Amino acid sequence: MQFKDIVGQRDTINRLTSVIDSGRVSHAQMVLGGMAAATPLALAYLQYLVCEHRQHYEGGELRADSCGECPSCKKMASLMHPDLHMVFPTAATSRVKEKPWSGEFRGEFRDFLLQNGGRGNLDDWYAFLGIENKQGLIREMDADDVVETLGLKAYEGGWRIMVIWMAEKMNAAFANKLLKTLEEPLPGTLLMLLAEDDEKMLPTIKSRVQTIRIQNPESKVKNSDNAEFAGLLVGWLRMLFKLKMKELSGQVDKMATLNREQLKQFLQYAMGVMRDCFLSTAAGVPCALGSGDEKFDSQFPKMITVNNIETIEAAFDDAIFAIERNAYAKIALMELSFRMSKALKKR
Ligand SMILES: [Zn+2]
Repeated sequence: MQFKDIVGQRDTINRLTSVIDSGRVSHAQMVLGGMAAATPLALAYLQYLVCEHRQHYEGGELRADSCGECPSCKKMASLMHPDLHMVFPTAATSRVKEKPWSGEFRGEFRDFLLQNGGRGNLDDWYAFLGIENKQGLIREMDADDVVETLGLKAYEGGWRIMVIWMAEKMNAAFANKLLKTLEEPLPGTLLMLLAEDDEKMLPTIKSRVQTIRIQNPESKVKNSDNAEFAGLLVGWLRMLFKLKMKELSGQVDKMATLNREQLKQFLQYAMGVMRDCFLSTAAGVPCALGSGDEKFDSQFPKMITVNNIETIEAAFDDAIFAIERNAYAKIALMELSFRMSKALKKR
């Protein structure tokens, strides 16, 4: 993929090539925008990074581009470069029945990206794998692969590159291991996260990566929704915290007034907050719930630990899945509440 094949984004591209030329490449970056735009941009960026004969132009729209001809360009264009590694969301399929992870699907993912010039989104990827009805995740096994790969020497003596595609799909176990890698990157490593919605990205991760923002006209979650979500979430968590089951039902009624799409977004938002509580506590930094109640804000995050985070994530995943499958919202939310309160007791 070369920059000339990308529609628009000229200012962004010119800024990126001049940073690469100056040798000030950041070790952890995130391309933020719809995958149809973010993936081609990231692939062209990486090809420019490894190109042996970068081309520079005078007076054109693009100040520079990869040559497209050298061995490094050719390997990158076919996604066969030995120092290019990728992790992405996976789920069980008819072939990989259990313990799915990126390593099982490398060939398929390469074919998927090459087939449409990297312009497929997450739904397209699930359709490609034949798992339309499942929720894919980037998991702990993927993290082990990232840590191991980035700890090795580059084959070709240049950059070791790890692409994390749809990074908002990382689970907490993955994020926890990734944080350590982000804190002490080895020289010559480049972590390139691709994400569509930074509202779903953990602040602890976001603050450690340099973000390249692509114009994204259809951002789904507006900030105004988030203030409403935050209020609903804190109200619900306070009921769970105090185990007041009678009041809990009233709070669930309030949550159930959201329409299906909003409810799904709310649950994704809430799951993101839970993961962030876990990571903040693990890292020993405060997690700002912003409930206006200091005692609650300082105590609740400590209830999310390594002993219950996976149970909590699974409960949220099941609730989101149920809402997507048109389950009765109140029942799905009550079920989630009971599972949450049980998990909180097991901290
Ligand atoms: Zn080249």
